Amino acid sequence: MPGRDLAGPAPVVARPLGAFDADRPPDWEGILDCLHCGICLPQCPTYQVLEQEMDSPRGRVYLMRAAAEGRVGLTDNFVLHMDRCLGCRACETACPAGVPFGRLLEETRAQIERRVRRPLAARLFRRAALGVFADRRRLAMLLSLGRLYRRSGLQRLARATGLLARLPRLGALDRLLPAVEAERRPLPADTPAAGASRGTVALLAGCVQAELFPEVNRATVMLLARAGYRVLVPEGQGCCGALHAHWGDRPGAEVRARRTVAALGEAAWVVTNAAGCGATMRDYAHLLPGDLAAARLAGRVRDVTELLAEHLPGPRQPLPLTVTYHEPCHLVHGQRVRAAPRAILDAIPGLRVVELEESDLCCGSAGVYNLTQPELAGRLLARKLDRIAATGAQVVVSGNPGCLLQLRTGLAERGLPVRAHHPVELLAWSLDGWAPIAAAGVP
Ligand code: SF4
Ligand code: SF4
Repeated sequence: MPGRDLAGPAPVVARPLGAFDADRPPDWEGILDCLHCGICLPQCPTYQVLEQEMDSPRGRVYLMRAAAEGRVGLTDNFVLHMDRCLGCRACETACPAGVPFGRLLEETRAQIERRVRRPLAARLFRRAALGVFADRRRLAMLLSLGRLYRRSGLQRLARATGLLARLPRLGALDRLLPAVEAERRPLPADTPAAGASRGTVALLAGCVQAELFPEVNRATVMLLARAGYRVLVPEGQGCCGALHAHWGDRPGAEVRARRTVAALGEAAWVVTNAAGCGATMRDYAHLLPGDLAAARLAGRVRDVTELLAEHLPGPRQPLPLTVTYHEPCHLVHGQRVRAAPRAILDAIPGLRVVELEESDLCCGSAGVYNLTQPELAGRLLARKLDRIAATGAQVVVSGNPGCLLQLRTGLAERGLPVRAHHPVELLAWSLDGWAPIAAAGVP
């Protein structure tokens, strides 16, 4: 027949389910995209540390394919290798075939969480960690309890008895708590632009960012206003769902994503200063298929450094510091934002920026990976601290609360004279009339 494609219709790729069920299994075409070339292996933190094929991106995709074809089940071994993945997406940046590894992982983890019964202790720990870290009120309570725990001498006792060494997850939480001391004040709901307005932005205040690093949110509001934006901090927002999505709790992530979409409204830009939240919100169209409001919001998400790099507030005063930059995985790999934070640092007079070796290698934080996989997270942190120490910097800069918490804990434990701060804090310090740098204790 004239005009007919002699090759016939495009072949339909059969979608086997195997060990998965039909509720959004890992995308079969995405799995098939893997060429097994191995280019991603040197970029994968867990492969670098463990040197096991099944702890590499290629090995994990292979396992997903074997499960889809029914050659392996969702066994303890399968779950172990998926649990060990940081979800850092460094493999996506490296992959020439465009394998959507982050989505494959989240889909696989959602299947695991629905269909695999973990030991009771692991279930309770996961539920507690998600329930606390994704809820500002509960997180604030945990921080209050942490202060009591430290000041009452209970921490010394728990460490002296060796109890924490026998319970590594609680030990990891114990180590993170001392890094958390911040004065929390409510953010203004509506801050007018200084001078002519460029438009309105809605800020995701976040849960971990808001409770652990409120000074970052305050600097964000001030800088955006001085850059010419009206800044709204809408009520009714909470967790964006990042932790739930990352951990395979898709229903939990969907509920939080819908609430975030409803709360943040129709501002020109939805701004976040937490890399993990930004990566998740940019993927809302995938998380909530068919939801047009979610898709519109996803297209308007910007990391705060992107807007500030375009319209730098000033005048900026010299900041005579040596700094280095650690790239959060969910900013550089998850959102492909690499230049903007560096542009901000470069625009601060007097600042000396020293390049960090392996700047885009995960520090081991990865959401709550440092609590679920403390041993591996510790090895990655030690490697990162070695690199930071080698720069001679006074400040390591990073735009994600999880990275800041992880780095501050590690730096304090090792006794390194280096502080960890968000890039917006440095920009704020360099502006007239905003000088909490002394309070920040930068050496
Ligand atoms: S997401 Fe990170 S840890 Fe996981 S396979 Fe990819 S590079 Fe490795
Ligand atoms: S780089 Fe991409 S295509 Fe190559 S092995 Fe890794 S995931 Fe597969």
